[in-house]
Amino acid sequence: MAGHKTLDDLFATADIKGRRVLVRADLNVPMQDGKVGDATRLERVAPTLTELAGRGAKVVVLSHFGRPKGKPDAKYSLKPVAEALSAFTGGTVAFADDCIGEVAQRAIEALAPGSILVLENTRFHAGEEKNDPDFAAALAKNGDVYVNDAFSCAHRAHGSTEGITRFLPSYAGRAMEAELTALEAALGTPKRPVVAVVGGAKISTKIALLANLVKKVDALVIGGGMANTFLAAQGKKIGKSLCEPDLLDTAREILESARAAKCDVVLPSDVVVAAEFKAGATAHTVSADAVPEDMMILDVGPDTLKHLAGRFETAKTVVWNGPLGAFEIPPFDRGTVEAARLVAMRSKQGELVSVAGGGDTVAALNEAGAAEDFTYVSAAGGAFLEWMEGVELPGVAALAKT
Ligand code: AMP
Repeated sequence: MAGHKTLDDLFATADIKGRRVLVRADLNVPMQDGKVGDATRLERVAPTLTELAGRGAKVVVLSHFGRPKGKPDAKYSLKPVAEALSAFTGGTVAFADDCIGEVAQRAIEALAPGSILVLENTRFHAGEEKNDPDFAAALAKNGDVYVNDAFSCAHRAHGSTEGITRFLPSYAGRAMEAELTALEAALGTPKRPVVAVVGGAKISTKIALLANLVKKVDALVIGGGMANTFLAAQGKKIGKSLCEPDLLDTAREILESARAAKCDVVLPSDVVVAAEFKAGATAHTVSADAVPEDMMILDVGPDTLKHLAGRFETAKTVVWNGPLGAFEIPPFDRGTVEAARLVAMRSKQGELVSVAGGGDTVAALNEAGAAEDFTYVSAAGGAFLEWMEGVELPGVAALAKT
């Protein structure tokens, strides 16, 4: 991978046997009744941990967990997560009750080379979120090398994601490397044409993202509730649909800058409407020009899907964020499901590179049974969105080759 220092760069320059390698992971997993729910993040970080352990390093894992407000709070202890991690690393994972100071130092001294230790929640110290240099130095004191494998936390300049890189040689872990490679292939130096699919409820959370995408992609497909505001901005009547009337001008500005950048904006030509958003509501398909006054738009229609199929047919790269409709309740999931399956199929055939992530996107693609065949599905939320906005992520910038 060009641009960032990876584990291969580390191994080429140093023997890490017996060395203390601090790995920033994202162990901020959902918990249900004291047990880890979705373990995707543990699964993704495990290869980096086992690779380092396999080379005889003392692997010391740093992570935040929840929002404990800068002081210890048993509710946010990483201890149960450390236990769950061992199922993915193939051996016992040790745990220490603090991430800095003597407690951490002693646990690391006692750690056998080739073993893994998780330190307690970095956010138990106020210096983490403030990116206090003294806190970052205290973290760094317990390591010889730093590896960041938490892309999902890289949009935050915190002690364990950015501050620490000022004190230690720093590298991207395997999951971080895979994420950066996928993102580079999608928006950095992509094969064209590039089609971006952006859906979800509202424009308000995605203005910066849309403004950046129109400058970078060849076609921007807008779906979901946010498409309604664009349709309204074009003077269409949208009945009772979700809309942000105070953003009509913003929508027009985005359409204008798309025109200037020669980016095709694809809005729904037909839509699925219902009188209310609930299971069992009677759905009708109408032209986007003829939405009945007492109905709301809840999905894109079949003509729109046909048009999208044509776009995906010729696309070389697809980048996707957000559902095309209110996908939680059938039949309003149909647009998202069918479009995602088309992209998945073309990706599986090796015809295009597809990268998806952010918010509800992963849930929607999983529901469509499409996630597996996308080239890459990011487990990151905010960091993925900021990357789509074109923002430089501090945790990533810190790993750049100089
Ligand atoms: P976001 O978190 O911005 O990606 O938005 C995801 C949410 O948008 C999901 O809960 C969808 O149900 C919702 N959504 C998508 N399309 C519509 C629509 N046409 N009307 C209302 N909500 C929608």
